[in-house]
Amino acid sequence: MKKIILTGDRPTGNLHLGHYVGSLKNRVKLQDEGEFDEMYVFIADTQALTDNFNNPKKVRDSVLGVVLDYLSVGLDPSKVTIFIQSMISALPELTMYYMNLVTLARLERNPTVKSEIKQKEFGSSIPVGFLNYPISQTADITAFDATIVPVGDDQLPMLEQAREIVRSFNNIYGETLVEPKAMIPDNEVCRRLPGTDGKAKMSKSLGNCIYLKDDSETVKKKVMSMYTDPNHLRVEDPGNTKDNPVFIYLEALSTDEHFKKYLPEYKNLDELKSHYEKGGLGDVKVKRFLYDVIEDTLRPIREKRKYYEENVDLVYNILKEGSKKANEKANSTLKRVKKAMLIDYFD
Ligand code: ATP
Ligand code: MG
Repeated sequence: MKKIILTGDRPTGNLHLGHYVGSLKNRVKLQDEGEFDEMYVFIADTQALTDNFNNPKKVRDSVLGVVLDYLSVGLDPSKVTIFIQSMISALPELTMYYMNLVTLARLERNPTVKSEIKQKEFGSSIPVGFLNYPISQTADITAFDATIVPVGDDQLPMLEQAREIVRSFNNIYGETLVEPKAMIPDNEVCRRLPGTDGKAKMSKSLGNCIYLKDDSETVKKKVMSMYTDPNHLRVEDPGNTKDNPVFIYLEALSTDEHFKKYLPEYKNLDELKSHYEKGGLGDVKVKRFLYDVIEDTLRPIREKRKYYEENVDLVYNILKEGSKKANEKANSTLKRVKKAMLIDYFD
């Protein structure tokens, strides 16, 4: 079986450190290892419109920002097909056919959808398109015969839904679709990075993000005002590192090299943590270190970004070419699907 990798992001704002550790880093690693047959990364504008339908400008304006984020973290358009979801007309068509295979109750039970409905305060006025997005995500995945989907853990229920649809489709219409697998980061803290405010997830919609495009000053301000252990009032107080986003970010990003470079009095994160837990280590010192670590991470990303920002024509061309290629692939899957469903009248 071919190894086909696919992931996407919603153009609802710029990408942040949560995306970086939860998904982008894995994608670049997979790309550079080169052990795959095809790799696709797409901008999910159709999906973004399901809960931003009344703000098309936000979605439109975010598309370029997300591609710039992709290119600046090192996704390489000569290896990866980058495309825009709404340019692929086979996707809504596949969605339509898959909708028959899913019940309303099943969609309402999806834990990610459930918590998003709450967060977005839809109440009882849930747009059909929004509730339907796990099905449309299944169309995205299956249209490209994706076998591996690198995502954060909020996407696991979506992958489960996709696998159910694939099984059900193949049962009824014969072996046609490929079952995908989620790929989540090995490092547990990277699967759902918390926000700078300590909330469970760094998320564009919650405004608690450090963005990949943030400049040094902005990063410093955000880090220095981050939520930490609220009971760690004086330096000598014992502190909690477990639910403390400052330590969680260090867990996600810092290496022993960073300690050698910026904080040589500690060998590694374990030593720093146990000092904090014992008491006698102030938040400011830890935050300064975190700032240095984030800066080391973002510096090369900012440099690449600058190049592409100065060559926007090149970026649009990458999207145009990618969308063309993606269309060919998705259309051939659609053909297969229609044949299996006996709606291929004139072929
Ligand atoms: P929105 O608030 O608009 O839903 P988002 O910040 O949740 O935006 P998405 O575009 O929905 O971002 O997510 C894109 C990918 O990034 C998904 O695979 C998701 O699992 C991953 N991801 C998003 N936020 C985090 C996070 N805080 N930690 C780890 N992975 C994340
Ligand atoms: Mg999301």
